[in-house]
Amino acid sequence: MAAVFLVTLYEYSPLFYISVVSLCFVITAAMVLGWFGFDVPVILRSSDEAESVLPAPEKRMVQVTNPFALELGSGTASVTDGVFLRPCCLEPCVLSCFWGCGVHALQGALQAHQHGPRLNTPQRFQEALHLQYNHCQSFHIGSEDREERHTEMAAEQGITDFGLLPRDRYPLVAVLTLAEPEAREAYNIVASVTVVHVPDDKYSLSARILFQHLLTSQGNMYELKPLFMSAESGGSSEPPDPNQSPEPPDAQDWAPSGGGESPMTEEEERDWSEGKARDCVVCQNASVNRVLLPCRHACVCDSCVSHFQHCPICRAFVIESFALLQRPATGE
Ligand SMILES: [Zn+2]
Ligand SMILES: [Zn+2]
Repeated sequence: MAAVFLVTLYEYSPLFYISVVSLCFVITAAMVLGWFGFDVPVILRSSDEAESVLPAPEKRMVQVTNPFALELGSGTASVTDGVFLRPCCLEPCVLSCFWGCGVHALQGALQAHQHGPRLNTPQRFQEALHLQYNHCQSFHIGSEDREERHTEMAAEQGITDFGLLPRDRYPLVAVLTLAEPEAREAYNIVASVTVVHVPDDKYSLSARILFQHLLTSQGNMYELKPLFMSAESGGSSEPPDPNQSPEPPDAQDWAPSGGGESPMTEEEERDWSEGKARDCVVCQNASVNRVLLPCRHACVCDSCVSHFQHCPICRAFVIESFALLQRPATGE
């Protein structure tokens, strides 16, 4: 019977080949579909969604006031002639200028602030530096006092330069601390540390602020970064201050300033300063309002944040998040 059937098929050989090829096609298609059939739920159930039952806890953030500001003043600056500094503080302060401050001594002092007693007075700073500086000069600054102060190295020290690169001393470290004990209790930020490059014969790069740190009463340290705003729309109408130069290209010559959390990228800062937040990278529907910690990417909206355990930008594990703008909770 089967032989008759095969012989019949053979006689109609085109039909035989067509059916064999069709059969193979159907089997292959079924296998491929079968694989996808098994895989589709796995793809949908990505790790993020599977863990979305445990949204990252929201971190409570408070706004803090920085009572300190320090800029380089006008006039020429050099190690031999000194520097003009322009402080502007909300409270009476003490400005301590440490000339020729050891790089490692400063790093040690900043670490001591994180672990030991807080460096909220000039005396504590001097102790933490272990006298690793050439000269110290102090000024009392009244609140809202914007007068420029001239600080210079004592002439009898006879120091005219700090040697060739790489150096183990910063030319000038200016420390601002609150003068009154009750003010130290009232502010979260207890000290500002500004490292200033001052030109000399061996390294004539113009005077500039290398970096600025704010020290908090909880023992944290934050680096102040230059903030850029769009020159055209809204915001400041003043041209950018040339003194506020961004990170100097040769800042790498100096020892690193210690750890810190990565801030917003310039692009993000610009968008925020222009008041037009980009759309959420996930739903493209709502505006970005969540900062993920610890990577600090601001990329998702309020409703999407609960669906992710990993940052959609850098894949870092999200431990906490906080809202950029507190919106009134809806009744739903
Ligand atoms: Zn969203
Ligand atoms: Zn990230």
